Amino acid sequence: MTYDKDNIFAKILRGEMPAVKVYEDDQTLAFMDVMPQSPGHVLVIPKTEAEDLFDLELKAGTAVLRTSQRVAQVVQEVFQADGIMINQFNGPAAGQTVFHYHVHIVPRYEDVPLRRHSGDMEDIAVLEEQAAKIRQALGES
Ligand code: AMP
Repeated sequence: MTYDKDNIFAKILRGEMPAVKVYEDDQTLAFMDVMPQSPGHVLVIPKTEAEDLFDLELKAGTAVLRTSQRVAQVVQEVFQADGIMINQFNGPAAGQTVFHYHVHIVPRYEDVPLRRHSGDMEDIAVLEEQAAKIRQALGES
């Protein structure tokens, strides 16, 4: 499959679609998942075109890992999570629905089940409030 330049995350990167951003640098962008599986669910993407893991340059992958580590640390603190789940799906059979490489950062709690993947839309005001807390803890606001 060739990279589709009109996928949602490519549009977010070009500023053609809104996103509730928490962190950005020259190589990566992190923003709130609009259908969170748990409060504080963040996505991290490279700014380079890559459909999935197999398509990802290692330099971009390293940058995504660096951002994911930093954001995950802060998300764990802000949402007082018992643990952080990092997910990354490759191909529809694995659950991938947006074909621009991305890492999920999902807070987890003892004995609390996850909400459905790509399930219910969260209120944007709630996501904005959560993002503000993450940005503040990151020193980005
Ligand atoms: P995946 O199934 O790994 O491809 O995950 C795609 C994720 O993107 C899902 O968790 C969706 O809830 C999320 N998502 C889809 N559209 C948007 C959007 N416009 N802004 C933020 N997150 C999105």
